[in-house]
Amino acid sequence: MQTIHMSDIYGQYLTMKAEIDNAIQEVIKSTRFLKSGKVLDFEKKLADYLDTNVVTCGNGTDALQLAFMALNLEPGDEVIITPFSFVSTVEVLVLMGLKPVFVDVCPATFNIDETQIENAITPKTKAILPVHLFGQCANMEAILNSAQKHELFVVEDACQALGTDYLFADGTKKKAGTIGHIGCNSFFPSKNLGAFGDGGAVFTNDTFLAETIRSLANHGRKANYEYQRVGINSRLDSIQAAILEVKLKYLDEHIKARQKAARFYDEHLHGLSEIKLPGRTEYSEHTFHQYTIQAEARDELKKYLESKGIPSMVYYPKALHLHEAYASLGYKAGDFPVAEKLTQTVLSLPMHTELDEQQLEYIVNNIKEFF
Ligand SMILES: *Cc1c(COP(=O)(O)O)cnc(C)c1O
Repeated sequence: MQTIHMSDIYGQYLTMKAEIDNAIQEVIKSTRFLKSGKVLDFEKKLADYLDTNVVTCGNGTDALQLAFMALNLEPGDEVIITPFSFVSTVEVLVLMGLKPVFVDVCPATFNIDETQIENAITPKTKAILPVHLFGQCANMEAILNSAQKHELFVVEDACQALGTDYLFADGTKKKAGTIGHIGCNSFFPSKNLGAFGDGGAVFTNDTFLAETIRSLANHGRKANYEYQRVGINSRLDSIQAAILEVKLKYLDEHIKARQKAARFYDEHLHGLSEIKLPGRTEYSEHTFHQYTIQAEARDELKKYLESKGIPSMVYYPKALHLHEAYASLGYKAGDFPVAEKLTQTVLSLPMHTELDEQQLEYIVNNIKEFF
C-alpha cells in the first residue's frame, strides 16, 4: 500500500504533470512573471466558473484585508465572526482597527450558529463574516436575512470551500464566496484549488466594488503612477496563475474524488458510537476540504493512528478568543462552550483526491480496531 498522506499534492500533480510543466515553461519563456495576461486569463476562467467578478491577490489573508479595506468601515466598528477557524479573520479585523465580536458555532457543522447572531448585533455592528469551514457553507440564507434587517455587509471566508454549491430554499444555487457582498478565497497549496505557493482571490457580484478592490490590491492605483486611495501590494504571480488555470479544469473532478472518499468514511464509520461524523445540512453541499470527526478519546486515537502510519490533524487546537494575541479583546475560557469543546474533540482524517480504497479501508479498520 502507498504511504498515506494527510493531503497528497505531489500525487495529484503527477496526474496533470505534462500540462502543468508546460504552463510553467510558458511563463518562464515569456519572463512576464507579474501582471501578465496569464493572471487575467485565470481570473476570467474562475469568474466564469463562479459566475461573479474575480480579483486575484497574494493570499487568502490579503483577500480578507482587501475586502474590509473596500468596505470603508470606521475604527471601532464591529464585525461578527466565529471563534472556531483559522486566525486570519480575527487578525485582519484587529490590524484594521475593527472590533471582532465572536459568536459560537453549531456542534454538528462547526460553522457559526446563525441563531445566536442577532443577539450579538449592536448599533456598532457593520458586517458579518461567516467562514465556510472544512468545505461546507454556513447557513447563508439566515445570515443574509439578519444582515438585510440590520443593514450589514456580509463577507464570506470561502478559503476552504471553493466550488461548494449553496442551495437556497427557492431552489437557487450559488457557489460559496459569491453569496454575500464579498467572498475571500485562498489558493494555499492544500486548499480545494491549491497553487504551488501562495495565492488568493476576492469575489464580488458588485462590479464597482471589484474595481475598488483591484485598485486597492495595486497600491490604490487609478492610472499609471496616479494613486487614488491608500492601497497595498498584493498580487498572484504568473506561474501560480498558470498552474491554477490548469488545475481549475479539474476542480469539479477533484471535488468528486474528495466526496467519494468522504462517502467511504461515512459508510464505514457510521454506527461507531464513540465518534461523531461530520454533520450535513440541506442547504449546503460539502466539498470536504477536511473530513473531521469528533471523539472524546481524540488524543489517544490520534496517537494510535500515528503508530499505524496514519496521519491526522487537529483543526483547530485552540479557539481564537483564547489566544494570547487577542487577550485584549476581553474574552475568557467558557465564553464559547461549543467551540472550546470542539478544540478538544475534533480530528481531521486524511482527505485528498488521491486516496484509494485500500488506503481508506486501512484507515477505517484501524479506527474500528482502536475502539
Ligand atoms: C487558508 C485560510 C485562510 C488564509 O489563507 P492564506 O492564503 O494562508 O492567507 C483564511 N481563512 C481560512 C478559513 C483558511 O482556511
